[in-house]
Amino acid sequence: MLAVISDIHSNTKALLAVLADIANRGADKIVCLGDVVGYGPEPKECLDLVRGNAAVTLMGNHDFAVLFEPSKFNVGAEAACFWTRLQLEREQDENLRDARWDFLGNLAVKASLPGDKYGLGDMVFLHGSPRRPINEYVFPDDIYNSPAKFQGIFDRIPHLCFVGHTHVPGVFTETPDYYSPDELEGVFEVDPARKALINVGSVGQPRDRDNRACYVMVEDGAVRFIRVPYDVDAVVREVGAIPELDEFLGTRLKDGR
Ligand code: ZN
Repeated sequence: MLAVISDIHSNTKALLAVLADIANRGADKIVCLGDVVGYGPEPKECLDLVRGNAAVTLMGNHDFAVLFEPSKFNVGAEAACFWTRLQLEREQDENLRDARWDFLGNLAVKASLPGDKYGLGDMVFLHGSPRRPINEYVFPDDIYNSPAKFQGIFDRIPHLCFVGHTHVPGVFTETPDYYSPDELEGVFEVDPARKALINVGSVGQPRDRDNRACYVMVEDGAVRFIRVPYDVDAVVREVGAIPELDEFLGTRLKDGR
C-alpha cells in the first residue's frame, strides 16, 4: 500500500491524524507532493514529521516561496510565507535549523515510481501539473474552459500522475472528464489502458467543502480517497493566536474552503 499526501500547510493536527490513519492501514511507503509549509501555525513540526515519515517529498509553490521568494501570492499567503521563514530562521538548535533548510532546499520537482507492486502502470508525482510542476493549477472547470490544456498534460503522463496544489481531490481522465471522490464513491478503479491524473486533495487545508483531512491510498489497481477528522477548532485557535497569520486562514478550515 502506498499513501500519497499533499498540501499539509503547517497543520500538525491534521498531519498527525493522517499519519496515524496511514499507520493503521499499514502502508509501506508515503509520498508527499509538497506544500508542507505555508498558511498554518506549525511549520517546523510539519517539516520534521514529513522528513521523518515520507520516503519522497516534492517541492510545492509554498515551500519554494519560503526558500526563495513568493510570487503571485495574495496578501495573507505572502505574510504567512514571511512568518514561516522567520520561524525556521529563529530555531535555536543549529543542526535542526540546517537540517530543515537542507530538506526544503533539496526537494525534487518530480518523482517517478513503477506501479506494478500496486497493480498499476508507471506513476509520476508532482505538486501542480506535468506542464509546470510547481505552479500550474488543474481545476475541474478547466475541462470546459481549456480542453487544450489537458492534451499537453496527458502527453506527459505515462499511466498515472498524482498531483495536489488545488486542494480539490478527484480524478481527471483524458476525455477530458473529472470525477469527484463522491462520484467515485471514494474509490477509483484504475483502467490499465487509460491514463489518469489524480488529485489527492489536501491534508491541512481542504477546499472541497469537507473540512476533514484528505489523502489517497494506492493498492490492488485502485486509488482510494480517504477523509480523516481532526480537531479543526484547535487549529483555528492556534492561527488566531498568531498576529502575523490572517484570521481567514483559520476560519476557512472550518468550512473546508
Ligand atoms: Zn497548497
